[in-house]
Amino acid sequence: MKNCEYQQIDPRALRTPSSRTSSTLPCGRKGSQRLRRKWEVFPGKNRFYCDGRIMLARQCGVLPLTIGLIFITSVLFFTFDCPFLVDHLTVFIPVIGGVLFIFVIISLLQTSFTDPGILPRALPDEAADIEKQIDNSGSSTYRPPPRTKEILINDQVVKLKYCFTCKMFRPPRTSHCSLCDNCVERFDHHCPWVGNCVGKRNYRFFYAFIVSLSFLTSFIFGCVITHLTLRSQGGNGFIQAIQDSPASVVELVICFFSIWSILGLSGFHTYLVASNLTTNEDIKGSWSSKRGEESGNPYTYNNIFTNCCVVLCGPMPPSLIDRRGFVPPEDAPQTVTSDAELPAFMAKNDTNMEENCQEFALSCTA
Ligand SMILES: [Zn+2]
Ligand SMILES: [Zn+2]
Repeated sequence: MKNCEYQQIDPRALRTPSSRTSSTLPCGRKGSQRLRRKWEVFPGKNRFYCDGRIMLARQCGVLPLTIGLIFITSVLFFTFDCPFLVDHLTVFIPVIGGVLFIFVIISLLQTSFTDPGILPRALPDEAADIEKQIDNSGSSTYRPPPRTKEILINDQVVKLKYCFTCKMFRPPRTSHCSLCDNCVERFDHHCPWVGNCVGKRNYRFFYAFIVSLSFLTSFIFGCVITHLTLRSQGGNGFIQAIQDSPASVVELVICFFSIWSILGLSGFHTYLVASNLTTNEDIKGSWSSKRGEESGNPYTYNNIFTNCCVVLCGPMPPSLIDRRGFVPPEDAPQTVTSDAELPAFMAKNDTNMEENCQEFALSCTA
């Protein structure tokens, strides 16, 4: 305790009272200045609805098409196919279809409206600090490529790139989505069909969505074919069956053109989940052996079951952008407007600071 210096006291003494007063400042003056939430000043290209509760990518025009196609096909199926199939086969057909439909819609909305794992951009102080570190590292004998850092993960060198937009070194598996203009943790890809990035926080919902959608599409496709086959067996032929139930043809066409891509996507993502890879890493060939050296995926647990558990059932990390939180008043200088109150606060800060310093100095010398 002998090495206590005044410099150590200074930042704490300055910060504690000022942050305390700044947090109490807006409560005392609610009417004069409206507090802004963080989504209102969010730097990425996202859209926010319901006071920041719902977030989507800016170009989310394909999402209504996705929802529309699922709704149209399902409504036609329940209206025109299910009554016939219940009469001729079993009552469980609409029950199974209904459960799958609800599961598909819930997982789709969860994928679309969940923060995919956006990393907040560096504050000006943090950005300046990183810039200083980059400048200092240049004087050492070994000089890595500009604006990259190398770290070891499971005895394998992983390069971290500097993001010029977010002003930070991207953590492992993070990538910057050019459409949303955000760095996203464990970035998989940007999916226009769900109107959101797919990343660390919504990958499990996305996977549940495509797997349940492949089940729903296959189920409806199979049921519609059964429906038309049973009708045509009545002696009227297939053409008559189509004329009796024209809606089934619409369902058949939608299912036929979508089922292959949905099944293919589900299979591809099952492979990715089992090997703990992302679409981004797979497309870039980040861990392929093309470089002639040992560069296997450093994130795999070498066990399909463990990989699946980690990717789909691991703990849900909290959202880091805190989009419904309030912007601190010091980030918005225009919040301090009242001239009359200003000297009083400053005076209070000064006395608090002096008291804190004296107390700290006393405790050090004691
Ligand atoms: Zn970025
Ligand atoms: Zn995106």
